[in-house]
Amino acid sequence: MRDVLIVGGGPVGTMLACLLAVEGLDVEVLEQRTEPSMRSRAIGIHPPLLAVLEQIGVAEDLVGRATHVEEGTVHCDGRMLGRMSFSALPTRYPFVAMLPQYETESLLRARFAHLRPGGLRGGVTVTDVRDRTDHAEVVTDAGEILQARYVVAADGARSRVRESAGMPWTDVGGRQTYLMCDYADTGMHGDTAVLYFERGGVVESFPLPDGTRRWVAITDFLAPHASSGELADIIRHRTGAAVGEPRGVASAFEVQQRRAHGLVRGRVALVGDAGHQISPIGGQGMNLGWLDAAELAPALARAVADADAAASALAAYSRRRMRAARMAMRQAGFNMSMGRPVRGVRLVARNALVRTLAVPPTNALVARAFTMRWL
Ligand SMILES: Cc1cc2nc3c(=O)[nH]c(=O)nc-3n(C[C@H](O)[C@H](O)[C@H](O)COP(=O)(O)OP(=O)(O)OC[C@H]3O[C@@H](n4cnc5c(N)ncnc54)[C@H](O)[C@@H]3O)c2cc1C
Repeated sequence: MRDVLIVGGGPVGTMLACLLAVEGLDVEVLEQRTEPSMRSRAIGIHPPLLAVLEQIGVAEDLVGRATHVEEGTVHCDGRMLGRMSFSALPTRYPFVAMLPQYETESLLRARFAHLRPGGLRGGVTVTDVRDRTDHAEVVTDAGEILQARYVVAADGARSRVRESAGMPWTDVGGRQTYLMCDYADTGMHGDTAVLYFERGGVVESFPLPDGTRRWVAITDFLAPHASSGELADIIRHRTGAAVGEPRGVASAFEVQQRRAHGLVRGRVALVGDAGHQISPIGGQGMNLGWLDAAELAPALARAVADADAAASALAAYSRRRMRAARMAMRQAGFNMSMGRPVRGVRLVARNALVRTLAVPPTNALVARAFTMRWL
């Protein structure tokens, strides 16, 4: 019997696995994929998470590979409305590290393979979970039954483990659609993150390693067949900016915010997107999941070491991380509302608000919120 079985070897599952291995627990990860996903989703890694990556010995490699964003600017109608700097943040890492999610996942997987060789099994789909009071069991698609003291669902927003454990999941609302693509960086914005709050809706642009820039634009509807050229036209039409050659295809996504009612039920705990799906606008979903992992690892270590302390350690994890998820969702909801298409008096009011948020002392608070210093 393992101490902990983690279902899902995405960024949050592997981060938790590394933290538990460092704590000395017997942990195994079950992942349905046999090959890593090359979809680039998360790109921004915030300062508190760089400190967590330090605990597992990954920060140096990741920071060395990533592009460092030290400031962001907001524009409308060809004028800069405000500037937000991260360089004064009281941290060893006063920047947001930008790296495609598949590269981050690859660093985490390599680290876990080093900490616990063979500890991640690919090609294993978990179909069911059962709480047996003094331990838990997972059932795989091959009919295997595996036992552990605790099972963690890190299997993403469509979590089968959450469903199988009977843990409810609520839609929080706030749907929007976007189109995104990576292009060669023309060098116009250096390493600055740029938000264009235009009448037709927001366009966002972020630097990535290897001379690449990610561009994201809000759309009126989900456009799964739109091309990188069509996105380039939207960007040029709304902002006047020209992008470089496409590096990959455009992808359309719909933002949804949903969360579980609690993150623990008996011997099953939820972590990351399995517990809360946050809008990517603001770039916090993966980071929030890592903060969950940083709290869940010591709670599980305590629960394994001392059965009498288990219930309160896990309940505290659930309470604190649900509060953080609610705050992150509110913040993401605010980010989304700021980026909606807007005209007339509403545009004037929105721009006045942006200017207010961009001057001291509010800009320091906004920088703290944006970089997740209170989640
Ligand atoms: C377009 C976009 C941009 C984003 N940008 C950012 C950003 O800049 N910053 C940020 O912090 N977040 C961002 N996010 C959110 C981020 O991608 C997610 O929050 C993150 O991937 C969640 O990680 P996870 O490990 O919880 O789940 P997932 O990444 O979904 O991983 C779950 C894993 O579980 C496996 N799995 C699923 N079911 C089973 C099963 N039954 N058995 C075994 N294995 C299973 C899957 O194969 C997968 O590997 C973005 C998301 C999108 C869509």
